[in-house]
Amino acid sequence: MAFDLDYLVRENIKRLLPYSSARDEFAGNAEIFLDANENSFGSPISKNYSRYPDPLQRTIKERVAEFSRVKSSQIFVGNGSDEAIDLLFRIFCRPGIDNILICPPTYGMYAVSAGINDIEVKRANLTSEFELDLDRINGEIDDKTKLVFFCSPNNPTGNSMTRETILEVAASFSGLVVVDEAYIHFSNHLSLLSELDRYPNLVILQTFSKAWGLAGLRVGLAFASEQVIQLFNKVKPPYNVSQIAQQMVLSALAMRAKVDEMREIIVGEREALASKLSRFRSVEKIYPSDANFLLVKTIAPNEIYRSLLSEKLVVRNRSNAELCDGCLRITVGTPNENRALIDAFEKYEKSLVH
Ligand SMILES: *Cc1c(COP(=O)(O)O)cnc(C)c1O
Repeated sequence: MAFDLDYLVRENIKRLLPYSSARDEFAGNAEIFLDANENSFGSPISKNYSRYPDPLQRTIKERVAEFSRVKSSQIFVGNGSDEAIDLLFRIFCRPGIDNILICPPTYGMYAVSAGINDIEVKRANLTSEFELDLDRINGEIDDKTKLVFFCSPNNPTGNSMTRETILEVAASFSGLVVVDEAYIHFSNHLSLLSELDRYPNLVILQTFSKAWGLAGLRVGLAFASEQVIQLFNKVKPPYNVSQIAQQMVLSALAMRAKVDEMREIIVGEREALASKLSRFRSVEKIYPSDANFLLVKTIAPNEIYRSLLSEKLVVRNRSNAELCDGCLRITVGTPNENRALIDAFEKYEKSLVH
């Protein structure tokens, strides 16, 4: 069956009459705003946040559209990309009926959002080289599969998924293909953004939480066809991105050179860290990474995790994830932090020889 957006959307969402906010209904020029029950005297703090923010984050979208080479109308701005993931479930997946497909080991939120929405999760594990397995993917997809999630570069494995395989699924699948590009800025691979116009069932997620250094603001992006973005806008909470977050993201968007600079340093530190870690006897393997973290296969993940923690250094223990036996996921830090990590590994290894 071919992709048909109208068929894919839940009936209740099609019927839904969206909330119309004061700032939706008025878009002209005015000086006195008595339409939204705000406090006209202002805020008690030094900065004024007494007015509701732009519900559609138009200025941010215009800026992002410029350098992403998409139309403003193809962009959704959310309270983290986690909001976009949750909206996809609520727009397209009927609780207790539909299913989604993920390719483990991968980002945990897809399955958590599915669980919250009572949606079955089908799994087509990556190969032992952490590549997509097209046969397994096609074998799992059925007529109730609404969303397929690909994460590229993938968390926690760090590698990029093959572009051709993603597009092959998109070409044959009647649901939406969601490509999570949270780590794309650290990768030499091209974003799939340029394919949006060719694949109406493609949804691409990006975020301000990683390379942009703004995780605390909670701002993420989804790129898709205008029709899909209109559905996001229909279902999202009216004021989903705060005024302060919008302002700070706008400031950051004017500092792209600084972000590029940090990215270069992080990628350099990543390679240096990989080469240093690879010399430890307790490290079996370091997987190639296109992201700002390394997946490190060790001989004793739990012991090493605890040993690092006793040095006040926390990493992510992924040794229980599919295909990740022995693995710790380690974020690339500052040069000082990375030195502390190497020191802590050295201390652990010294504690082994008596
Ligand atoms: C960190 C991360 C995100 C970011 O989520 P936000 O809600 O935007 O902070 C999204 N996807 C993956 C795979 C991640 O690792």
